[in-house]
Amino acid sequence: MTSTQTAAPQTILLVEDNEDNRIIYATALRYAGYCVLEAVTGTQGVQQARDNQPDLILMDISVPELDGWEATAVLKADPRTQRIPVVAVTAHALPGDEERSLQAGCDGYLAKPIPPAALIADVDRRLGRLTRSYVPPRSADSATS
Ligand code: MN
Repeated sequence: MTSTQTAAPQTILLVEDNEDNRIIYATALRYAGYCVLEAVTGTQGVQQARDNQPDLILMDISVPELDGWEATAVLKADPRTQRIPVVAVTAHALPGDEERSLQAGCDGYLAKPIPPAALIADVDRRLGRLTRSYVPPRSADSATS
């Protein structure tokens, strides 16, 4: 058992309709210590954001019902959710996608494929986490060897 100070875990809402991607990213985020909520469609994403007030939203752009841009526009027009940062994650990578993401109100933009470690690094940076490199705690128990 460790006794490091731990704040309540920050919550990430992952909106992603591709099951493989959702599992990979959710697993990596949880391993990094985040609480992860999952949504498959833009409509579910908006509802989850309203209900659960996540600290950050990772928004796949190609999702059913509302697409990621439409869902972001809804979130940014709603006082209940407009302050939640939204990072667009898209495989389109077309010229103008980044601009369109920002026009929809997204706070950032990531192009797929993005390795899980790079996704985590981006989330860490946006949420103000410092380096993830592990520093062993100093304690009497670990004085030897
Ligand atoms: Mn998709």
